[in-house]
Amino acid sequence: MKSKHWIVGNWKMNGSRQAVQQWLAEWQLGCNKLTASASRLEILVCPPAIYLPFFAEQITTNNISRLKLVGQNVSAYLQGAYTGELSAAMLQDYQCSHVLIGHSERRQLFAETDEVVAQKVATAQAQGLRPILCVGETQAQREQQATESVVTAQLDSVLKRIGAEKLAQAIIAYEPIWAIGTGLSATPEQAQAVHASIRAWLGNKRVGFTPLLYGGSVSPDNAAAVLRQPDIDGVLVGGASLVADSFLKICAVLT
Ligand code: PEP
Repeated sequence: MKSKHWIVGNWKMNGSRQAVQQWLAEWQLGCNKLTASASRLEILVCPPAIYLPFFAEQITTNNISRLKLVGQNVSAYLQGAYTGELSAAMLQDYQCSHVLIGHSERRQLFAETDEVVAQKVATAQAQGLRPILCVGETQAQREQQATESVVTAQLDSVLKRIGAEKLAQAIIAYEPIWAIGTGLSATPEQAQAVHASIRAWLGNKRVGFTPLLYGGSVSPDNAAAVLRQPDIDGVLVGGASLVADSFLKICAVLT
């Protein structure tokens, strides 16, 4: 039995000030119904950066419980002439404890290389933010049976940069690109198989226990089956996290 599960909601570039307020009001009503066993859940939300201060303020003012805040991205640099970037320290100023790094949308649409991803992980950790490092293969790579080699190469570049001890302090999210935002979730068995191979790779590299999350069209309908897999410690949820009620249902599946 796993001692803990992680449920992470990624809003991507969605929402508004009004949507944040409504979502939090619905969350506050619904989260009281999460049972005692939900105390073993870490529940995290990644709103767009511009709404982090509002999220943080609402959480404090309304005494909203259970939610930790996560940045969707962070600069590889500490400070300086990097127009448009946000530093790890800035995210921490608004109560972020974690940050997503290497989401496939950042890798594919914003040309983030394995090296940049590794540098971001190093910078975030040096500043005290816990990275949620995303890895995953394209449809074509899966068809070429390259899933394991792609994922381990993505992990290896971070390992080489930060070392085994630091990698164990991160969270890893396996997100097959073909399953993100497509409604085509990997089956629980497909996800488990990749997670088992990541777990074995981490063991070979002498990386201590690192939570492994699955992401890709997770919904209230499939979350329980995914979370029951032996090497899946949590889920990274995009679309279904935008509606507080669906996100709450996912948080409730194991309780
Ligand atoms: C994501 O944003 O990382 C994600 C997995 O999205 P979705 O759940 O919508 O596929």
